[in-house]
Amino acid sequence: MIVSFDLDGVLMENPFIDHVFPAITARLQELWKSRTDQRAAFRKETVEASGPTEEEIWDIILNKHQAKLKAANYRAYDWDLITKETAETLGIEAEIEVAELVKKNCTPPAIKSYRDGRDLLCWLRKKDFLLLAITNGFAKYQEPVLKALALDKCFKTIITPDRLKAFKPEAKIFAGVKNKSDWWHIGDSLFMDVWGASRLGAETALVKRDLPESLTSMSPEERVSSSEGQKLLNRLATKEAARQDFQFKKEKLNPEEMRPKLIVDNLKQLKKFLV
Ligand SMILES: [Mg+2]
Repeated sequence: MIVSFDLDGVLMENPFIDHVFPAITARLQELWKSRTDQRAAFRKETVEASGPTEEEIWDIILNKHQAKLKAANYRAYDWDLITKETAETLGIEAEIEVAELVKKNCTPPAIKSYRDGRDLLCWLRKKDFLLLAITNGFAKYQEPVLKALALDKCFKTIITPDRLKAFKPEAKIFAGVKNKSDWWHIGDSLFMDVWGASRLGAETALVKRDLPESLTSMSPEERVSSSEGQKLLNRLATKEAARQDFQFKKEKLNPEEMRPKLIVDNLKQLKKFLV
């Protein structure tokens, strides 16, 4: 059997949101301020002569990321490219190595692994399952984190957008899974993980660590079939659809494919199904 895992939110947490992105925006702002021809450099209407705020720089970064998602360009996750393009928009030159910033922040609490995830991986490895990681983080950003958390050796292959020239939920990134007939995919995104993998034949489990109380006492399957579970899935689908406004919205989404087989709030609940 093949078991593929999403990484962030399922097995680990990377340092981007709290550490890497703030370091990028702070550095870009610092570089902008050190320019002599600041006023000419950046003409965005909302920006005062004092220069762009870090929030405004973040908006530029996010817009570039989203434009690439819309264009189904896997480089939406290439933060080095996006940082470079953001610097160009700001009219500055910046040599920022994002992978270096990741490495600098590769110690807890900036990164973390989930204990239930580690336990499940160890358990699965003893059973000789083929374990894969399928992530939308580029290898140069994710591998240092996996290594620092000692999770890197758990996987036969780490499938990333830069290697497959695609990103979840595109079918192309799941092409890294060779035998799709006996395959589970575990992830925390209904759209990228559940929809992405189930339409290709995977059994899927949605990881929802902050499960509403009404669902905690149910079995992982009941959580999907119960009316509370359906409501939760609909809420999540609406929330994710608003965020992931790219080409897949044009595709007709099959609600059945948006439905995981299981909803778990702890990965140990998967053991009885992965046999
Ligand atoms: Mg995730």
